[in-house]
Amino acid sequence: MSALAVVIGAGVDALVCGHYLARAGRRVLVLEGRTAHDDGTEIGWIPPRIVRDLALDRRGLAIHRADPWVAAPLAAGGRLELSRDIARSVEAIRRVSPRDAAKWPAFSERMGRLARLLEHLYAAPPPDPVSRELGGLVRLAGVGLRMRRLGKQAIEDLLRLLPMSAADWLDDWFESDALKAVLGAAGITNLRQGPRSGGTAFVLLHHHVGSPAGVFRPPLSNIGRALAELPGVEIRRGAEISRIAVREGRVAGVLLASGGEIAASLVISGADPRRTLLELVDPGWLDPDVVRAVRNIRSRGVVARVTLMLDRSPGFTTLMVAPSLDYLERAYDDAKYGRVSRAPYLEAASDGPTADGRHRVNVHVQYAPYALADGEWDEARRTALGRLVVEVLSQHLPDLGAAVVERSVLSPRDLEDAYGFPEGQAHHVELALDQLLWMRPVPGWARYRTPIDGLYLCGPGTHPGGGIAGAAGNNAARQIISDLRSGRLR
Ligand SMILES: Cc1cc2nc3c(=O)[nH]c(=O)nc-3n(C[C@H](O)[C@H](O)[C@H](O)COP(=O)(O)OP(=O)(O)OC[C@H]3O[C@@H](n4cnc5c(N)ncnc54)[C@H](O)[C@@H]3O)c2cc1C
Repeated sequence: MSALAVVIGAGVDALVCGHYLARAGRRVLVLEGRTAHDDGTEIGWIPPRIVRDLALDRRGLAIHRADPWVAAPLAAGGRLELSRDIARSVEAIRRVSPRDAAKWPAFSERMGRLARLLEHLYAAPPPDPVSRELGGLVRLAGVGLRMRRLGKQAIEDLLRLLPMSAADWLDDWFESDALKAVLGAAGITNLRQGPRSGGTAFVLLHHHVGSPAGVFRPPLSNIGRALAELPGVEIRRGAEISRIAVREGRVAGVLLASGGEIAASLVISGADPRRTLLELVDPGWLDPDVVRAVRNIRSRGVVARVTLMLDRSPGFTTLMVAPSLDYLERAYDDAKYGRVSRAPYLEAASDGPTADGRHRVNVHVQYAPYALADGEWDEARRTALGRLVVEVLSQHLPDLGAAVVERSVLSPRDLEDAYGFPEGQAHHVELALDQLLWMRPVPGWARYRTPIDGLYLCGPGTHPGGGIAGAAGNNAARQIISDLRSGRLR
């Protein structure tokens, strides 16, 4: 029988990694701490190769691409609705700014070109500019060539965009507050930064990867369910791991919180890097510099989830409250000082009637900081946040308040407790420029390997990060298979 690989967590990346290893002939056991599979919707582009390789479409994979992909109320009345069809978006934008409407096709085309370069970069372990490994150098040269082939305009765009704030980038292109805000919001989603912070233009581009030109929101899918039903790996739920056993610098297996040890010479963790390396591994095995770098990973959660149950249709499928870049920046100002935004940025999504005829609306609420300046998240704060969300939405949907029959609020602390998101951060590691590509999760340890032989990372805290479903897991599996073939891993 082939040697056992233990995968920690049944998140999307972990399951993708496990299935690729199983296809390569490994026996794979996935151990998930939570007791039940969460049927929640996954956010993010799924690289088509993963769908093809794992035949996920034959397992009921359903990808939902909203059209219009955004609808934002306008101060003067009506909504700005951007569609998948460029010409329709041009018409919609014309109503707020004929000048911006004329620029939309060129903006969409130029951003699409850059996103395709990232798509290529995201589909493999990251090239490391300081690596001396031959494979890494070849890959780096390949990226350089690809960049050159993009042409002068795209190279210039990329080099300018990388360090810029979303606000500066968008101010360069457009004049309409409403348009700039719906785009700028993608640059700050799940990030403890505002649209005027450096690096947020890149985050806007990151969330564009995999979408057609002119669409700046990733699709939703049920990939978690499709992967959980795929045969080939054993998934054990309610199996929390309390320790990763290390002997003589090599992984030896895992210890279950309920007692007992499972021996394995290969352990891959879909849990976040900080928890994996500082809580599950005895940090005594790590160099103090590595411990310091891992401790300094930023994972500051700033998002709360509010779910509203309505007794009638809300009258929208997606609705964004982000009227201007200034509004977003002011919302961030509160978070900077540890307060919930008095006027938060909201993204509400309704997924049609439930079996009992009610309508569920899921609201992304930003900023709701994990660490509050004046206390802890408690019931009173959750209630106040739920009320604020209904109040803000009601400014645009006057009948909403009366339609709400139930309201539930998950603060970033609740997201940490329920889903294991560190500090409530859904991407595990913030998508900040210094925590991306070969620096994700920390410079020097970005090839899914860890300093412990046989222990690998595969979650959204590794390249290419959250918002891209399964790519990190696929890349990690490729790295592991390559390490096995080269004899680096036994
Ligand atoms: C409420 C909610 C909000 C979300 N918001 C966003 C969003 O805003 N943007 C976005 O892109 N995506 C979002 N997502 C989707 C998802 O969280 C992201 O795609 C994220 O990147 C998750 O990646 P993953 O599935 O690989 O990891 P995770 O879903 O985080 O999976 C890791 C798993 O490891 C398990 N685990 C951790 N430690 C242990 C241990 N010691 N022993 C055993 N098991 C362990 C955890 O229980 C967890 O199931 C959200 C999901 C939920 C449920």
